Amino acid sequence: MPGTNLTRDEARTRADLLHVDAYEIELDLSSAREGGTFRSTTVVRFTATTPGAATFIDLVAPSVEEIVLNGVRLDNSAFADSRIALPDLAAENELRVVADCAYTNTGEGLHLFVDPVDGETYLYTQFEVPDARRVFASFEQPDLKAAFTFTVTAPATWVVVSNSPTPEPQGEGDTRVWSFAPTGRISTYITALVAGPYVGVFDSYENGEQKVPLGIYCRPSLREFLDPEAIFEVTKQGFDYFQEKFDFPYPFAKYDQLFVPEFNAGAMENAGAVTLRDQYVFRSKVTDAAYEARAATILHELAHMWFGDLVTMEWWNDLWLNESFATYAEAVCQAEAPGSRWPNSWTTFANQMKTWAYRQDQLPSTHPIMAEINDLEDVQVNFDGITYAKGASVLKQLVAYVGQDAFFEGVRAYFKQHAWGNTRLGDLLGALEKASGRDLKSWSAAWLETAGINVLRPALTLNTDGEIESFAVLQTAPALPAGAKGEAVLRPHRIAVGLYELNDGALVRTDRIELDVNGPRTEVPELVGRHRPAVILLNDDDLTYAKVRLDEDSLAVVTENLGGFTEALPRALCWASAWDMTRDGELAARDYLTLALSGLPRESDIGVVQSVQRQVKLALDVYADPNWREQGLARWAEAAEQALRDAEPGSDHQLAWARVLGSVARTDGQLDLLAGLLDGGAVIPGLAVDTELRWALLGRLAATGRADEAAIGAELARDNTAAGQEHAASCRAARPTAEAKAAAWASVVDSDELTNYVQAAVIGGFQQADQRELLAPYAEKYFAAVKGVWESRSHEISQQIITGLYPALLVEQGTLDATDAWLTAAEPSPALRRQIVEARAGVERALRAQAVDRAAGER
Ligand SMILES: [Zn+2]
Repeated sequence: MPGTNLTRDEARTRADLLHVDAYEIELDLSSAREGGTFRSTTVVRFTATTPGAATFIDLVAPSVEEIVLNGVRLDNSAFADSRIALPDLAAENELRVVADCAYTNTGEGLHLFVDPVDGETYLYTQFEVPDARRVFASFEQPDLKAAFTFTVTAPATWVVVSNSPTPEPQGEGDTRVWSFAPTGRISTYITALVAGPYVGVFDSYENGEQKVPLGIYCRPSLREFLDPEAIFEVTKQGFDYFQEKFDFPYPFAKYDQLFVPEFNAGAMENAGAVTLRDQYVFRSKVTDAAYEARAATILHELAHMWFGDLVTMEWWNDLWLNESFATYAEAVCQAEAPGSRWPNSWTTFANQMKTWAYRQDQLPSTHPIMAEINDLEDVQVNFDGITYAKGASVLKQLVAYVGQDAFFEGVRAYFKQHAWGNTRLGDLLGALEKASGRDLKSWSAAWLETAGINVLRPALTLNTDGEIESFAVLQTAPALPAGAKGEAVLRPHRIAVGLYELNDGALVRTDRIELDVNGPRTEVPELVGRHRPAVILLNDDDLTYAKVRLDEDSLAVVTENLGGFTEALPRALCWASAWDMTRDGELAARDYLTLALSGLPRESDIGVVQSVQRQVKLALDVYADPNWREQGLARWAEAAEQALRDAEPGSDHQLAWARVLGSVARTDGQLDLLAGLLDGGAVIPGLAVDTELRWALLGRLAATGRADEAAIGAELARDNTAAGQEHAASCRAARPTAEAKAAAWASVVDSDELTNYVQAAVIGGFQQADQRELLAPYAEKYFAAVKGVWESRSHEISQQIITGLYPALLVEQGTLDATDAWLTAAEPSPALRRQIVEARAGVERALRAQAVDRAAGER
């Protein structure tokens, strides 16, 4: 077991032995512009319950200069395998470690980025899960909290931000020293440092006596695109909402949000110093769905300041609770905060979070929400749709079950009792039980300790007058994939049943019944004797987490009139249900296309529109019968061009359809249109062909052989930014030649020089659904390389390669066979196996769906 893969048992032993008081960390970043390494000096003070015992501290670094424990210098050989052995502890200990740590280009540890626009160097840290140890010697586990004091030497012209407020820098000459005040007691993984010539915009959150300084930072080259007013507005709404609901004042001294380059995740909840991906600073027009997603991320990270940062999970097995809570909190805040621009957030939640959760929960790797996390590798592959989306869906169901008032009352008690400490799931459930008076043990066993999705179906009979004679909700246990952990169970569901009538093409809800569903069959006597409505929708309002099926008559009405629901949420639920049926082979890909073409023109929710557009493309690329696929794509491309021309000028829908055409254009006429939009020869009134849209259109022209290296180079000359370089790399990899594919492959697999973002762009360009013949030879190369990649690259980089270059577009038995042969021969570690098994499941599902689509073509 490599030393970087800390196990839960090791962490527990260490937590029993140690209490960490404080870290003093000195970082010398004065030569950052040259890259390489930086000097890191850490002094840790900690006590041990058993004097004489031994332990270790974590450090990932090229070299160590000095290790001094309680005044005694240890031999540098104590540092081995990313750990420093600490023998013979005293009751009270002081450890000093001087090391040379490395800057990274993978987004892990201390990431170094050079902006091509100004040639300046920008740094930021990203430590979750175990990467603080790449920057300073640390006891890298969440339950060894401590106070952290950072002292940073950096170029005089820089801005330096950390968890504590930025002090006035001292010194003269080319460098300055920033001496930060100690933090409160926090975990290593939420400490942070952002340094470079970033620019800031400032405001404050004020509430009575309380005044919290707010800052927003980005690179100067993005400043013209930053919209701080909108970001501060959402942030302040979040402060108001969370402080009131949690009845606990914001726990840190200030709140900075830093938009940083080449960030692997959406954002990171560092205490008082949140980092966010800087694609959230929009360089070009985006749809309102992007603003909504950004606001959700802002609120998610803010919620973590209490749930995660103030009160922290003891070990990573409760990561799900951390992420689910923040994900639930972002949606409920958007739905309820006064002045929120996105009160329809539960529609987005149904459309995106639920879809993600349902997909993940049907993979062979599915697992109970409470996952077993035995070591750090386990947790690193567990930032998944169960942890974020299913967990949040189940929390939403829990709120429906205990009531929102009781839920927040329990949460308030939990924060008060555990502030600055660590907890387990039972601590929260105990507080909720007390607040609600409901026993949550059986609820927890059914929802948190088992995997899979229940299916709810209506069963109804009518009399000769068309009145309902009997109505029941049938529940079936999850169909767990072979090899999945846990048993398949029925669960208690709190649901609403919506009754809809059709009037002039409009589907309007005429009644709603809320009930508890238990066991395989739940009668609904309230419906007996009523006239059968046009549509009966189970799980209306999306209270529970379940797959829902429509009865035959309702399905027929919905298929004809999906756009007719006057409310967004039932439309989103029906869209999700149709997509789920397509993935499950209950609806042929060609029928999903037909449904999309009839429903999309009346869909006003832009987030739903864009989701359905992505799903249609996926359905055509991998779920459609290959012999019919081209017809389907041609229909989709034609529809996209028509919708683009018909859309209201300057609208979000217009932009969304332009992007669809930019992903699927195939006739000479369509490709001429893309080229014309780029060179000005064609104009669609109201459509701004701005930087990002230009790259999207050029990407399609490159993939179809219409844009050569010169055209790509010319575009890069127009936009010689980091984002432009990524797009150019993607365009080159997309070109339909064997040489382009070989060069892209070599740059990713045979070399480790690409940054995380450029590598992702190359992989995205390489995989083109229209280029299966060119891609076919790479299946064999993939299986030959994948184990070496996993063993030699960092976690983020290898995960990108393993999931991104898997031959997912080669939907054929041969891909399954090659995967199985590799799984047998390679003896992969559990984390690597999981990634391959998940990718394989996609091909298996696609093969089944293709058979269904083929049969539909023959009917
Ligand atoms: Zn989170």
